[in-house]
Amino acid sequence: KLSLRSVRKSFGSNEVCRAIDLDVAEGEMVCLIGASGSGKSTLLRCINLLEPIDDGVIYLDGVDIAEPGFDPQPVRERIGIVFQSYNLFPHMTAAQNVMLAPMRVHGRSKDDLAGPVADLFDSFGLPEHMDHYPDQLSGGQQQRVAIIRALAMEPEIMLFDEITSALDPELVGEVLDVLRQLHRDGMTMILATHEMGFARELADKVCFLDAGRILEEGAPNDLFSAPQEERTRAFLSRVL
Ligand code: ATP
Ligand code: MG
Repeated sequence: KLSLRSVRKSFGSNEVCRAIDLDVAEGEMVCLIGASGSGKSTLLRCINLLEPIDDGVIYLDGVDIAEPGFDPQPVRERIGIVFQSYNLFPHMTAAQNVMLAPMRVHGRSKDDLAGPVADLFDSFGLPEHMDHYPDQLSGGQQQRVAIIRALAMEPEIMLFDEITSALDPELVGEVLDVLRQLHRDGMTMILATHEMGFARELADKVCFLDAGRILEEGAPNDLFSAPQEERTRAFLSRVL
């Protein structure tokens, strides 16, 4: 349902995405791995139209969303993104943070949202934290609220950029549990991650990015146990 073909993106003379081809089927979890600066975040931002691409096509259900002049707003509603920094509004409760976009963008009323939002907090293990302010929540809880906030827009695809990197190690697990649950529920997801164990356990496909190219991709067992490319082997030997 999501297909990238020859996607290119440069910042000045720095070519950060070099002819990226990527297919993500419905319900698939795809993990992007690679060294710092290899282009993982930029690729996610391009998919979400937060960065305009220089060349190539991005098909979402057969429609090229990267075409110049295409309205990015509806696409950003269909493709949610969560970052390492959760950026909750400090003066709003967790529930208010979650309701903000559906109210502003979809014109939904608070009453209308109360039920579905409570269900989201329930299913991600935070029912008692709906009325807490961000500074009353742990990092892992705040990150889960940020995920709930993205899900409240009812996206078809979710992008996650290193969402556990800023968390204390003991809080990483609870956020990964949310991703496990989303995968089980059939959400289509692309993750940039340094959590190799998690990628190996859950990804349907792992892509190794090297200097803006997908140098190698495959099922996690193949890629982690028998990488074909020397640079993949070198990277994995550093991180595993
Ligand atoms: P990390 O693992 O550290 O998050 P990454 O794989 O996500 O790295 P990117 O953040 O996509 O890498 O960066 C890829 C390259 O693009 C880097 O050389 C970076 O300096 C450059 N870059 C990213 N965003 C911009 C920007 N807005 N303007 C200029 N250069 C940028
Ligand atoms: Mg990054």
